[in-house]
Amino acid sequence: MKFISTRGGEAVSGAQAILSGIAPDGGLYVPEYFPAIDSAFLREIGNLSYPERAAKIFSLFLDDFEISELEYWAEQAYAKFEGDPAPLTKIDDATYIMELWHGPTLAFKDLALTMMPYLLTGARERCEENKQTLILVATSGDTGMAALAGFADVANTEIVVLYPNEGVSKLQKLQMQTAQGDNVHVFAIEGNFDDAQTAVKDIFNDKEVVEKLYEHGFSLSSANSINWGRLQPQIAYYISAYADLLYAGEVEEGEQVNFVVPTGNFGNVLAAYYALKMGLPIANLIVASNKNNVLSEFFESAEYNINRPFYKTISPSMDILISSNFERLLFEIGGRSAEFVKEMMADLNSQGYYCLDQASLEKIAEFKGYYSTEEETLDSIANFFEIYGYLIDPHTAVGVSCLYKHMAFFDNGGKNIVVSTASPYKFAQDVYKAIVGKWESDTFKAVDKLSEITATPIPEEISRLKHQAILHSEELERQDIKKSILELFGSTL
Ligand SMILES: *Cc1c(COP(=O)(O)O)cnc(C)c1O
Repeated sequence: MKFISTRGGEAVSGAQAILSGIAPDGGLYVPEYFPAIDSAFLREIGNLSYPERAAKIFSLFLDDFEISELEYWAEQAYAKFEGDPAPLTKIDDATYIMELWHGPTLAFKDLALTMMPYLLTGARERCEENKQTLILVATSGDTGMAALAGFADVANTEIVVLYPNEGVSKLQKLQMQTAQGDNVHVFAIEGNFDDAQTAVKDIFNDKEVVEKLYEHGFSLSSANSINWGRLQPQIAYYISAYADLLYAGEVEEGEQVNFVVPTGNFGNVLAAYYALKMGLPIANLIVASNKNNVLSEFFESAEYNINRPFYKTISPSMDILISSNFERLLFEIGGRSAEFVKEMMADLNSQGYYCLDQASLEKIAEFKGYYSTEEETLDSIANFFEIYGYLIDPHTAVGVSCLYKHMAFFDNGGKNIVVSTASPYKFAQDVYKAIVGKWESDTFKAVDKLSEITATPIPEEISRLKHQAILHSEELERQDIKKSILELFGSTL
């Protein structure tokens, strides 16, 4: 299988796509076609462990890797989880929650970022890359720590994380500031996630900077969901969830389900769409946004418009206006036309919006977009706990809130799987406030109290933060980012 750029450049191998992260023409790599899965495949993997399932799905895309190798890596990666990496909990006859936060950093990004170092190391070998790989990451909070944990002390790899200083939760920040490893570099930047992401893209697109880093022995890659190596592991859990339901007799063969996905950079829900394109029986993909509701507006009006205020919300990992992966959906909407993608991206750059038409929306009618206000999100946490005794984090709560909005319009009687993207303890202060109605200003007190009143255990990853030394506290001004990164690796502007 080859990978092609959304902006039309040369097709490359899977290994090359993972190694480069982004195509030289600035586009994103997508698979040349979507490999098909059928009911027999879904039945067959129902008997397998999660790593075995994942490896089988990866091998459909990465035919330049051995299946035995993929399996070994998946086993190593998913051994870092507590139990099943993607367990389903049944809430009622119509609703299931897929908990994706049992990995090392307590967010769904771990499903991909525990696996990615193996993929990247394998890709380096295949491409006979003799430079070190320099991974640049922009984070809205969770990617940063998951990438730091995944790549810490991985040979021939350096990792730089940029996070918005005011745009992440206290515990997210602490996780990153205490990250260990000789090859990890963490910076707070002034600005929001879009600024961090733009800074990273600017470096990728700056030929001079890329060349200078290359001369100093580094070739660039990305651990953001623009990298195929990030996206592919995310496809696996959608297929795995369906296989679980089929195996347990909760769905009939071919029965369509809905997935509800709390969305920011559009990577997670895009992976669900790719699973749909492969043949997974999905009726609707419910794109759940917070108050930064660019996407829900798009699915209503066909206009993608970032000329609007940026809000800081209690679901910070979704505080994003420019969703990178939307480019991959545009590519499908336009019938895989690179010209169409380039036109839309040029409009976005020059005027901050682009407009499609209703016919375009009909091509992707599976998608339903909704958004949840801050009050609705807090209410969802409180109600879900009161009714079901089940604690959700603010991102998952955006999903739950949007699911109920969807069901008020189109309840087709189908099953809904809500993707739970983070542990409630990562956002303990807001979750505590939702449940008790009071703000606890001391983060660790909020953690303890939350555990007490909900009788849920505090994850080890959270307790450890209380005593860990701060290793990274440097802040960068926007205009200094390039220069500082070059200097870090022995070069200058
Ligand atoms: C990253 C993240 C999201 C958004 O996922 P995208 O792939 O960026 O759409 C939602 N919730 C949490 C907790 C996250 O960390």
